[in-house]
Parts: sequence; structure tokens; C-alpha cells
Amino acid sequence: MKPEEQYCDFSTQAVHGGRYLHGEHAHSAPIYATSTFTFDNAEQGMNRFAGNENGFIYSRFGNPTTAEAADAIAKLEAFGLKDEKGDPLELSALLHSSGQSAMVTMFLSNLKAGDKVLTHYSLYGGTHEFLFDFLPGLGIQSLITDFKKIEETENLLMQNPEIKIIHIESPANPTMDCTDLQAVVTLAKKFQVLVTVDNTFSTPYLQQPFRFGVDFVFHSTTKFLNGHGNTIGGVLIGKDKAFMKSIVNRIHKLLGGNSSPFDAFLLLQGLKTLPIRMEKHCSNAKIIAKFLSEHPAVSKVNFNGLPDHPDYVLSQRQMRHAGAVMSFELAAGLEGGRKFIDALRICVRAVSLGTADTLVSHPASMSHSGMKREDRIKSGITDGLIRMSVGLEDPNDLLQDLRQALSATI
Ligand SMILES: *Cc1c(COP(=O)(O)O)cnc(C)c1O
Repeated sequence: MKPEEQYCDFSTQAVHGGRYLHGEHAHSAPIYATSTFTFDNAEQGMNRFAGNENGFIYSRFGNPTTAEAADAIAKLEAFGLKDEKGDPLELSALLHSSGQSAMVTMFLSNLKAGDKVLTHYSLYGGTHEFLFDFLPGLGIQSLITDFKKIEETENLLMQNPEIKIIHIESPANPTMDCTDLQAVVTLAKKFQVLVTVDNTFSTPYLQQPFRFGVDFVFHSTTKFLNGHGNTIGGVLIGKDKAFMKSIVNRIHKLLGGNSSPFDAFLLLQGLKTLPIRMEKHCSNAKIIAKFLSEHPAVSKVNFNGLPDHPDYVLSQRQMRHAGAVMSFELAAGLEGGRKFIDALRICVRAVSLGTADTLVSHPASMSHSGMKREDRIKSGITDGLIRMSVGLEDPNDLLQDLRQALSATI
């Protein structure tokens, strides 16, 4: 595709990816299983290191398979969007060994001692730990606010000129609360603060944060982008191409969080079916959320696609569909949670999300069992809370499984 060409629809972009011209006219992206790349002569080596000639040097710095997957995701995040001059938005992306690694590159590329980060409750556990338990040791503090309270947020920004980044997850686990990206970006611009978004739950098919003017997006590609649960991976995407090429590239190289070409290859396969998978994940999720919300053994359903969710209207405006991750509370509490999990026959007992099969976990007895009950409940993880990532099965099979497992809790 010539750079000036644009597809009519996201799904065509997903299928065609960033397609490079491959040696031997290979149709599918080859797995460049090589640690290093050869130079024809000393001058070429020099020019590649100096950045005067395009070409790969060493796979921790860059690799054709990982670059192709990164570009394919950058094109999806930018799809249909315009830059400040009205030209098609161009983004750059770097593939990482995990979502966690992409997140760390993002923060360390932008922060120095004395800076602060402003964020919200219910962050992904690894992000929370990095911001609140690790970065303080480097002299970087983080603050928490409720971005729905714009005045309070503005006051915090006024009182803390050290705030360099606002970091958002929307929707956020486990309540699926959403943040108004437009409102936060408008405020951030006033204070010249960067806005970063973890877009893992949404994927660019459901939500394109760059539409609202954010600065960086990262994903755990482990989840919906790969979609088949067979790799750990991450991607960091930025709109300041010069900054991505210099600072972010350097930090990525120094931290050594590069993706393996094989993982990138698997990710490329997943990306082609992203739109069609997300449609099914999301339509299944809607059916299941409605069923759960009407079931007597369930006291509460947290799903932003239900009209009684506080962010239903916002998520309708900001996202294509509500997503396919939800949580719900069993009336029968901790013991009910265990019984429910044990009774499942089709849904799979596992943490993680975004796989072809439906994954169900009970945070209180699994991922968050090490946390003090009091702290766990404060962060929304009640005793009977079940987290569910809805898969691609027929919804009737899922409903049948849930019905029988719920009856085990009563
Ligand atoms: C899984 C996940 C991460 C971390 O990604 P890894 O690939 O496990 O390192 C970050 N954010 C969210 C929202 C996630 O679900």
C-alpha cells in the first residue's frame, strides 16, 4: 500500500497490517530468528549505527518481524485519525516482551527524579506496584484522584506543578469504570501535562485514545490483540515520532525488553482477526451481562455496557462497544465464589483475559488472596467478586454453564 492510501474500514487495515515486502515473496511475515544482521562493509555498518541508513543491526535494537507487528498496531491506533495539520495521523510503536515492559519503558522515558504522576484507583496491579512501590525509590511520586471530579483534579494539578504525566486505564478493572479521555486531555493541555493510556481492555478496535489527543498508549498484547493466549507481549505507541525514535528507542534498548520474533509472528496472526473477534467477544459479553444482572444469585454486575452502569453513557460515546471483560458479585460471598468456580464446566478457571475461550477467576481466593481483606475491599475486590473475560463460544453454551454453576452457590 502506498502511504497516501487509506482503507475504508478498520477491518481491512487489520487484515493487511503493516505488510512489508518480504524476501522470496513470502506472503506471510517470516519469523526473523536471528540475533544480529550483517553489514556488506565497514561503511554500511557505520551508516546503520549513525542512523544514516535504514537497516537492522541487532535484534534487541530492532527486528523485521517485531517491527512489522508494531507498525501494524500503530496503524490500527491511528486508523482514520488526523494530526494537527489535518493529515492522516502517523504513530510510531515499539514491541516489547510484555505489557509490563512497555509500561516501564513509557514511564522511564518521560520521568526523572522530582517528577510526579497523577492517576486513579483500580490500576492494573503491576502498574500500581511500579508507580507506588518502585518509582518512589527513584524520587518519583504518584498521586491518586478521581478524574470524574474535574475541579479536584484541576486543584491537584495547580498544587503540584511537578506532575508530568496523567495515566489512565479506561475501562478499569474490576468495576469497568471509564474515564472521560476528552475532558482529561483538555485539562492536561492547560497544564502542559502528558496523558498516557493503558488501552489493553479496549484494543484500538473499541477505543482510539489518540482521537482525544493523548500522548502515549500502551497495551498488553498478551490479551485481545494476540487473542489466543499463546504469548506474553506488549507494545508502546507514541505520536511524537522524533521522541519515539530517540529517547523511547534508547530506553527500550537499555532495558532490553524486546519482543521475540516468534511472539511477534503470533501477534501478527491475531491482529488480522481482531475486528471480527472483538465483535463476537462484545456481543457475547452483552448477552451474559444481561443474564447475570437478572439472576438472583448475583447481587451486582460491573459492566459498562449495562444501562445502569455509571459510565454507560460515557463508554457509548468513547468506545465502539463496551468490551468483553466484566466482574460480578455473588450474593453467597467468598464460599459462594469458590463453589461457583469449582462448578464451571465450559468456562476456564484462569487469570488473564482476551482469549478465544472464556476465562473466569475469583480474585479474593486467587490473584488478590495475599492482600489484606480491608485493602482488597477498598480497591473493589469484594469476597464474592468474580472476574470474567468473555470468549468466542456460542453464548448459549456459556449461559448454560453459568446457570448451573450459579445454582451451586445457592
Ligand atoms: C495484563 C495487563 C497488563 C500487563 O501485561 P503483561 O503482558 O502481563 O505484562 C497491563 N495492563 C492491563 C490492563 C492488563 O490487563
